[in-house]
Amino acid sequence: MTVTSTWETPEQAALRAAVAALGGRYGQEYFNGVVRDGEQPDRLWAEAGRLGYLGVNLPEQYGGGGAGITELSIVLEELGAAGCPLLLMVVSPAICGTVIARFGTEQQRRRWLPGLADGSVRMAFGITEPDAGSNAHRITTTARRDGGDWVLTGRKVFISGVDVADATLIVGRTEDACSGRLRPCLFIVPRDAPGFSFRPIPMEVWAPEKQFELVLDEVRLPADALVGEEDAGLLQLFAGLNPERIMTAAFAIGMGRCALGRAVEYARTRQVWRVPIGAHQAVAHPLAQAHIELELARLMMRKAAQLYDAGDDMAAGEAANMAKYAAGEAAVKAVDQAVHTLGGNGLTTEYGLASLITGVRVARIAPVSREMILNFVSHTTLGLPKSY
Ligand SMILES: Cc1cc2nc3c(=O)[nH]c(=O)nc-3n(C[C@H](O)[C@H](O)[C@H](O)COP(=O)(O)OP(=O)(O)OC[C@H]3O[C@@H](n4cnc5c(N)ncnc54)[C@H](O)[C@@H]3O)c2cc1C
Repeated sequence: MTVTSTWETPEQAALRAAVAALGGRYGQEYFNGVVRDGEQPDRLWAEAGRLGYLGVNLPEQYGGGGAGITELSIVLEELGAAGCPLLLMVVSPAICGTVIARFGTEQQRRRWLPGLADGSVRMAFGITEPDAGSNAHRITTTARRDGGDWVLTGRKVFISGVDVADATLIVGRTEDACSGRLRPCLFIVPRDAPGFSFRPIPMEVWAPEKQFELVLDEVRLPADALVGEEDAGLLQLFAGLNPERIMTAAFAIGMGRCALGRAVEYARTRQVWRVPIGAHQAVAHPLAQAHIELELARLMMRKAAQLYDAGDDMAAGEAANMAKYAAGEAAVKAVDQAVHTLGGNGLTTEYGLASLITGVRVARIAPVSREMILNFVSHTTLGLPKSY
């Protein structure tokens, strides 16, 4: 599936084409091989970093490309469309890079951003807790001051990529803000910090990134592990979560396009009656529908990214939620339809479509489920009352 580029700047179109070419050199065969062998797509990650794609959104003075989430989402979408959806991009440059660039001290920026930009440093992000889940207001990971240090205690679940990340950006709350509405604070916790341990959660997701349960047992951190203000509140957190939603949309749309491309190619040539199966409208229309729905989701993703890059955090929040919702729904449907189009081949290893089923499903659950987005739109956009 090629993408028309007249709605993008020449720079964005050139970026899209260059990333698509990079993705094409690796492709799904490379990606699936990595997953099958329990390895990481390190070679692709390193090359994308070296070419400036992973840090395209980060400030130039720290080694980034000086562009925005619009451009970063182009990178992830195109790699996904080529069969290489890099989930860690949602976390490392998009959430962690953005939060540090916007709220970090000069020292934190110099320490972390150049590595995040060139891919030599990776960072995971941990907010989800076993007893909080969708209700982040209930998180109990607590930061206590001890002299000049912070001491962090808590548990997290489903945190992606902790084993390959140099550090995890942990969302906690301070001891004096232990109850009531969440006033989150963010800490950089190095992987080897004493008291920080992680254990993989067996998952059925076809992706190189594993998910982990984390235990923070009195993890002592220096004062400068805190990113931003102790009581800067939700604004600071959402500065990272809105890019996360936009990037999850890109992750989903990339996979949806990949699957759809395969299905269309197959439907054009596979012939069991007089004409290729794509001539039957029962085959063609659902594919056309999937294409339209993916395009609509891309449009909303683009709107969200543009609002975010223009600094309108409030409007970007609503659009990012809607984009994530639309992309998750469209991509799940596109993958399902693609699998169906290939008949039995849809489930063979050779055609590689079945492996997308679980990967794309993630976009309906994480980082915020479709129901929680519908809740957000019901309450915030439409002003309807809350049931919880
Ligand atoms: C592959 C994968 C990777 C992940 N990576 C990360 C990561 O890197 N970092 C991180 O912090 N987290 C990560 N997560 C966690 C993810 O963000 C959570 O799974 C998600 O927020 C949902 O939380 P939960 O699983 O606890 O579900 P729950 O909150 O228990 O929800 C279960 C179901 O109930 C529904 N529900 C809950 N409350 C309501 C309500 N009020 N109204 C209607 N429906 C409701 C939900 O929509 C959902 O369908 C990841 C998850 C997965 C699957």
